[in-house]
Amino acid sequence: MRVTDLYKKNKPIISLEFFPPRNEKADQEFDGLIDRLSSLKPDYMSVTFGAGGSTRDGSYQTVKKIMTEKKQATVAYIAGYGLGPKEITDVLDKYRELGVETIFVIRGDKPREDQFTSHPDSFSYASEMISFIKDRYDFTLGCAGYPEGHIEAQSLEKDIEYLKCKVDSGAEYIVAQYFYDNDYFFRYTEKCRALGINVPIIPGIMPVYTVKMTRMLSKVCGATITDLLRKKLDEVDAEDSKAVLQLGIDFAIDQCRGLLKEKVPGLHFYTMDRSESTTAIIQCLKQEKLI
Ligand SMILES: Cc1cc2nc3c(=O)[nH]c(=O)nc-3n(C[C@H](O)[C@H](O)[C@H](O)COP(=O)(O)OP(=O)(O)OC[C@H]3O[C@@H](n4cnc5c(N)ncnc54)[C@H](O)[C@@H]3O)c2cc1C
Repeated sequence: MRVTDLYKKNKPIISLEFFPPRNEKADQEFDGLIDRLSSLKPDYMSVTFGAGGSTRDGSYQTVKKIMTEKKQATVAYIAGYGLGPKEITDVLDKYRELGVETIFVIRGDKPREDQFTSHPDSFSYASEMISFIKDRYDFTLGCAGYPEGHIEAQSLEKDIEYLKCKVDSGAEYIVAQYFYDNDYFFRYTEKCRALGINVPIIPGIMPVYTVKMTRMLSKVCGATITDLLRKKLDEVDAEDSKAVLQLGIDFAIDQCRGLLKEKVPGLHFYTMDRSESTTAIIQCLKQEKLI
């Protein structure tokens, strides 16, 4: 499945992102998770890749399971941080053999283990990886975009210039980091278009799963917790998991309504390997005939 064919359809494309199960318990629960979310009939599922190759085998096995056992259209990710060219082609050769047609290419970040040593010929930026892959494979490639600017970026404008390098190197669609104010996304898309980036840009949706996780991730990912959301997070009882989940569902539904009204090409859900929130949001949007 080539993602770009999906984005040509005249309807919002629903994609769900997973990471490979991190332990035996998660592994046992993974089948059920995919089955529950498959019943929502998403357009495709995608599987992350641990930078430094930390989930190399787990990512491959997860892609294989979703694609061949669960018969879902699947996108595989590759995060090149620290990997040498041969390590990258080894991963990609296996995906090609499996029949994967779309690869989402990201740089990744330095793994936390102290002993991690980068390969001397590893790539510095995702755009370099995209060129390298484009020259050697027939995959459709995607890349990441950051509506509020990447956390290391000198400025949003500079970050968008580098995004343009990724597209010029061969990325054919962009999945955006999540955000809690749609205006960030709309302004970002406008700036990208003004710079001549004309590929589909897909908003990422990260429902609030727990208050602690939302606050922690917002710092790591550079997603501002808006005043509106901050107020809600301050008011909810953080220990009341049901109330927190419901807050996240309601907030995300409102966000999705606003995005769909502006005819975004799709919605990309960061499921964090959980099904409840994504299910509730998608079911509501379906009931309202928005997707
Ligand atoms: C949808 C999505 C999925 C993700 N999935 C994963 C995953 O599976 N695994 C994982 O490890 N991480 C993942 N990430 C996180 C990502 O790896 C990090 O955000 C990482 O820090 C940047 O990756 P990138 O591909 O955007 O990097 P790049 O595009 O290389 O950009 C990194 C930084 O360098 C700057 N830059 C780019 N090019 C240049 C240049 N030529 N000169 C100077 N500066 C430059 C950019 O402005 C930016 O600040 C994901 C992010 C998103 C949005």
